[in-house]
Amino acid sequence: MASTRTAQLMDGAGLARRIMGETAAKASIVARRTGFAPCLATVLVGEDPASVTYVRMKQSRSAKAGILSRHVALPAETSTAELVETLGALSADPEVHGILLQHPVGPHIDERAAFEAIAPEKDVDGVTVSSFGAMSFGLPGFVSCTPGGIMRLLEEYEVGLAGKRAVVVGRSAILGKPVGMLLLGKDATVTYCHSRTADLAAVVAEADVVVAAVGRARLIRGQDIKPGAVVIDAGYNAGNVGDVDFETARGRARLITPVPGGVGPMTIAVLLAQTVDAAALQLGV
Ligand code: NAP
Repeated sequence: MASTRTAQLMDGAGLARRIMGETAAKASIVARRTGFAPCLATVLVGEDPASVTYVRMKQSRSAKAGILSRHVALPAETSTAELVETLGALSADPEVHGILLQHPVGPHIDERAAFEAIAPEKDVDGVTVSSFGAMSFGLPGFVSCTPGGIMRLLEEYEVGLAGKRAVVVGRSAILGKPVGMLLLGKDATVTYCHSRTADLAAVVAEADVVVAAVGRARLIRGQDIKPGAVVIDAGYNAGNVGDVDFETARGRARLITPVPGGVGPMTIAVLLAQTVDAAALQLGV
């Protein structure tokens, strides 16, 4: 008999709006008490249209939350050494509280070296080794923004994680790996899948919580989802399509994030919340 289940949608857009409201309130307290508004520096190398759009979006959301933007636009031919120097200067600038290096930065740049030039206390995008280590050990620090947003969504919908099987599909440094560590920190039993995983569908079928973080449209089929599972789709592919086949998966899942309007809006919300937290810490509020 066909399933009559329809999963509840996890409203990332709504939760992100609420977090933005709280962030704006905190930013105004910081500004009132110290005379300095929180400031996020954005660094863009080259003029990739998608990156330009992302940076503009972050600047306009920052303005709405009472966060100043300092934009540094560098030419596409910028060297690793020049980028490292720029990020070092922003790290040393007391008027800048958070730093975001828009990535990818281009194949001729050593992206890891560039990320590591960001001072950990200003690493509001959670991209440094130091931030990853602190997050993995459960120590204070800034988390990678999309994983942080996913954890906020799971918390909001009261998804119990202790003892649950969580399957993360994807193992990138900014998304798959950190979200797995955060799930482990909440006592889930975590399995990572990647391009070399044998029989992905069989692994996904065991998951109480699935996090899709691949970048391949509809890779995960509804028939692979365990009935009653929680499905988080971080993928974003051409045509506003996620990594999960939404229409079939919603017939089996208990909770599911839509694309768009699920994970996406949470990323900027976490970035701005962490920027204001960084400013508060640096300014002693
Ligand atoms: P990425 O660096 O390209 O990593 C993709 C991961 O997927 C890799 O670990 C890769 O495995 C794995 N993979 C590739 N093909 C696979 C397959 N057939 N089966 C299983 N795993 C496979 O991508 P990313 O930066 O993590 O981004 C992933 C997706 O999330 C993209 O759609 C991106 O647009 C989206 N994203 C969204 C947000 C947001 O704000 N919502 C933020 C960041 C990213 P290997 O390691 O073996 O190569």
